[in-house]
Amino acid sequence: MQINFPCLIKSSYILCRSIFDVKAARIVKVNEPLEIQDVETLKPKGSQVLIKVESSGVCHSDIHLWEGGYKGPEGQFLKTTDRGVKYPLTPGHEIAGTVDNIGEEAEGRFSKNEKVLVFPWIGEGLCPACRIGEENLCDKPRSLGVYVNGGYAEYVLIPSYKYLVKIGDDIDIDAAATLSCSALTAYGAVKNANLNPDDNVVVVGAGGLGLMAMQLAKTVTGARIIAMDIGDDKLKAAKEDGGADDVVNSKKEDPVKAIMELTSNLGADAVIDFVNASKTVESDMQFLRRRARLVLVGLFGGELKLSLVSMPTRAYRLIGSYTGTLSEMVELVSLAKRGIIKPIVSDRFKLDQATEALSKLKDGKIIGRGVINP
Ligand SMILES: [Zn+2]
Ligand SMILES: [Zn+2]
Repeated sequence: MQINFPCLIKSSYILCRSIFDVKAARIVKVNEPLEIQDVETLKPKGSQVLIKVESSGVCHSDIHLWEGGYKGPEGQFLKTTDRGVKYPLTPGHEIAGTVDNIGEEAEGRFSKNEKVLVFPWIGEGLCPACRIGEENLCDKPRSLGVYVNGGYAEYVLIPSYKYLVKIGDDIDIDAAATLSCSALTAYGAVKNANLNPDDNVVVVGAGGLGLMAMQLAKTVTGARIIAMDIGDDKLKAAKEDGGADDVVNSKKEDPVKAIMELTSNLGADAVIDFVNASKTVESDMQFLRRRARLVLVGLFGGELKLSLVSMPTRAYRLIGSYTGTLSEMVELVSLAKRGIIKPIVSDRFKLDQATEALSKLKDGKIIGRGVINP
């Protein structure tokens, strides 16, 4: 942090100034290395809280922000700027840190140096989704690290203390960071899959999100987990850390044949697809049991040809699942405190290694989750 002008109170210099500079790793131009910049930040007022970022998770959606868009149908490119994203942008929506300074309305609720996890899926507060507590699905989202500056920075200003969840000392701060997106997305997807203890659920993609979904589905629902991926190292982690009962390498064997064999030719009761590419979903559609739920989570993108008559006759349900709610994040923190889910952090980076972190994730070289420690 750079001090703009001298301050009389040395020990708490932030308190006496309303604007200060925060070092951040920012996407200035898409596909180019992130730049370390000093970003003007305001001192918190009202219910706002200034968080000192200790850990900021590196997420696949940060890659889409970096690339400037998503792959849409028929090779079309869906631009992030068309969705309201503005550059330069400080990415980072998985933020865990300590309370540094608070607005007057937050006094008594949080104290300095208290460890917190930030709920990043902030809405404008007035739309029908916000009004029922689904701010993650707001019509005019203000998500941190997507629409406003996020956690690839030394400090981040949070609009209200209501978006903070205390984590205490029971959870490692790097592991806690991953709860607000990867674990929350995994939890939301598991809930949407509506699993019963006797169900066979196929989890497609055994990266950070997939592993977390396996842990949650196993513990919370008791369903039988079949992990599918193209990497043997990831499938090994699925068995050891995710608690998968069976694994299928869809590069080495025919995924449809493998799932039908593992389910006595009945097919999967549910599929949670964390890749969500044309290739994976086309194969998912071929091993669904009647009444199956296909939950699409990944942001790889592409298109799908549907046999329309099969939808009613086989009573399939196609469900899109996007992150989760603030109350689900509170539940997750509680599950993590009790050791029921164990987020796996495998790679740690400094702020000036943000580009390296994104490249490594893009190349599929991060098993578990990467975090930036500013
Ligand atoms: Zn994310
Ligand atoms: Zn809203």
